[in-house]
Amino acid sequence: MPFQKLKLELDERAVKGLQRYRRVLESPQGVHITMEGKPYLSFCSNDYLGLANHPQLIAALQSGSQQYGVGSGASHLVSGHFAAHQQLENQLAEFVHKPAALLFSTGYLANLGTVQALVGRGDTIFADKLNHASLNDAMLLSRAEIKRYRHNDVAQLEQLLAENHAGRKLVITDAVFSMDGDLAPLPEILALCERYEAWLLIDDAHGFGVLGRSGQGSLAHFNLTSPRVIYMATLGKAAGVAGAFVAAEQVVIETLVQSARSYIYTTASPPALASALQASLTLLSTEEWRREHLRYMISQLREGLAGLPWKLMLSDTPIQPLLVGSNEDAVALAEALRARGIWVPAIRPPTVPQGTARLRITLSAAHSEENVVQLIGALHELVY
Ligand SMILES: *Cc1c(COP(=O)(O)O)cnc(C)c1O
Repeated sequence: MPFQKLKLELDERAVKGLQRYRRVLESPQGVHITMEGKPYLSFCSNDYLGLANHPQLIAALQSGSQQYGVGSGASHLVSGHFAAHQQLENQLAEFVHKPAALLFSTGYLANLGTVQALVGRGDTIFADKLNHASLNDAMLLSRAEIKRYRHNDVAQLEQLLAENHAGRKLVITDAVFSMDGDLAPLPEILALCERYEAWLLIDDAHGFGVLGRSGQGSLAHFNLTSPRVIYMATLGKAAGVAGAFVAAEQVVIETLVQSARSYIYTTASPPALASALQASLTLLSTEEWRREHLRYMISQLREGLAGLPWKLMLSDTPIQPLLVGSNEDAVALAEALRARGIWVPAIRPPTVPQGTARLRITLSAAHSEENVVQLIGALHELVY
């Protein structure tokens, strides 16, 4: 038995109720999904604008694959960089008001490559404790010294920055925290970066397409522009497709092209995805009703759940976590909703801190008011 130890570890995980399962979807992502043969009303995707199954994106993917085929066949630096990739990079840079942008295959890879290319031994990273796992992994891979500050604690960040640090300084934060839905105080953080001459990497995976005028994201939401900011966002959430991009000063982007290993040593994503993303960018930036409807449903949900024993965490974004506490209670509540045909995931440690297991409710512009009413009603029925 060469893997006996692994088996024991898995058993232990199961006993603690921490085993993770994958559920099989048989339908497109959306409000009404079919999962393992059963229909559900879903509140668990990051498809915030309801674009993942949009006919115009499907058509763009089809015509993109007619034009370019399916596989890219090589990495970007060999022969896998297609016209659709280049056009999309130009459009994304313009959209977020940065001089240049670079596409990555996923957000995870974008974070790994960006941090590793920008800092290394002898440099220091300052990071929010609730940053996304990909940023945490990126920090370790970079070999820079790591200083973590308490969630959104600008005073502690300042203390850390004020200590003497040789080398480069890079502050890293999620713009919208993925399991909490709250925003980082970006204006204050940027002001500190200016004062202490640090660079600022912002991960806007959950803000891009959702926040700011035309969905330009968290920088637009706060009205911030600064060459010091390295802006990263993903394209598999609100944008409804897949991938990610980093937008920054030309010299930063060129540095990534030359030395981001997760950019260089991987096959370029299929160019047809870039075609679909061009269609997505058009819809995302012009259809303001999607963001207006989201904002309306967020207030509807918050009002509707105000009387429950479980409390919604403070959030103005489509991520509306309902704090439950223990792992068992969170799982039981998710199961009870599931029995009523409603799918909301329970999120447990280590994804979130101990004792803060929660239901991560996410809203999409594709939800209707009636869908939200149904969720509110079901949760009220489950109070005991
Ligand atoms: C989802 C997410 C990522 C990873 O992006 P993928 O494209 O899914 O790999 C990175 N950062 C944050 C904050 C995320 O929520």
